[in-house]
Amino acid sequence: MIELDGATGEGGGQVLRTALTLSMITGQPFRIVNIRANRPKPGLMRQHLVAVQAAAGISNADIGSAAVGAQTLQFTPGKIKGGAYQFAIGTAGSCTLVLQTLLPALLYADAPSVVKITGGTHNAMAPPAHFLQRAYGRVLAAMGADLEIELKRFGFYPAGGGEIEAKVSPCRQLQPLELMSRGERVAGYAESFIAGVPADVAKRELACVKTAMGWDDAQLAIRGLPHDQGPGNALLVTLESQHVTEVFCAFGEKMVRSEVVAKKAISQVRQYIASGAAVGEHLADQIMLPLALAGSGRFTVDCVSQHALTNAEVIEQFLPVRITFAEQGLSSVCEIATK
Ligand code: ATP
Repeated sequence: MIELDGATGEGGGQVLRTALTLSMITGQPFRIVNIRANRPKPGLMRQHLVAVQAAAGISNADIGSAAVGAQTLQFTPGKIKGGAYQFAIGTAGSCTLVLQTLLPALLYADAPSVVKITGGTHNAMAPPAHFLQRAYGRVLAAMGADLEIELKRFGFYPAGGGEIEAKVSPCRQLQPLELMSRGERVAGYAESFIAGVPADVAKRELACVKTAMGWDDAQLAIRGLPHDQGPGNALLVTLESQHVTEVFCAFGEKMVRSEVVAKKAISQVRQYIASGAAVGEHLADQIMLPLALAGSGRFTVDCVSQHALTNAEVIEQFLPVRITFAEQGLSSVCEIATK
């Protein structure tokens, strides 16, 4: 039984999600206390509870009486089973974080899987569905995974109601990967998605990106969505390079000017470009787990977050790997090696 303290490091939901994924894959049960201790509303929220229930669903795990608000959990996994699954968050809680809990585990299933999850697909503080498709999905594909992620319907906070579907084939051994440079830029573009929000919002956001990036109109797109998928607005900037794709985002909010929203996305893009690193802050904390499963990997990252450091600690408790970070000029090198 692995004992985890959810207050470790960042003390957020990732400690739990990483533990769920690695417990399923390694077959090691765990007990966690102080779940999300450093968050304003500690304990399991809907999104985390669904992650626990979904993990239990695909691995026939024993989870005791897990409920919203619970600050402790004991998880004893069984065998991971492929198949058709459907999970509903029931709020605008992030579908993508639940999917990310399941995806690596389904690579170790006995058969292919199709997983549908409903809830939020474009949430602040979570990877937008496009990030999973373009950035995270590309890294997994480069490591030998065969998966397809489809965004069926957008779900924004607070309405939710979005849907993503993933098709995953088993892949017993992920291949190690080095991402030390991003390589030449192959494509760069910005999209403003709007549902039930005036088109002017998207126009103003994209005008800011155009000026800041020196891009032409062909690199900018307004993507109007059916009104019933809103209200919501997400500005996504995608940089596709030779070895890696990054997606940066910002969300429109009531009473926040479009220019301020655009500025948030642009400052992330600028930091990434200036650093020269292959991988941005968020992709970094998300690819450590698959790289640790592969047994080794190395990448340069623009900023090492507390989130990444915490995640590394949890991964090291389940897998025989050592994860190190070393500063190198404006970026850092993350190295994952078998102990
Ligand atoms: P809480 O800590 O409240 O439980 P949480 O469970 O939603 O929150 P965190 O533990 O903060 O989540 O983890 C959020 C995850 O979402 C991290 O893996 C982080 O990299 C990812 N993420 C956050 N913002 C973005 C973004 N803009 N693009 C891609 N990924 C993101």
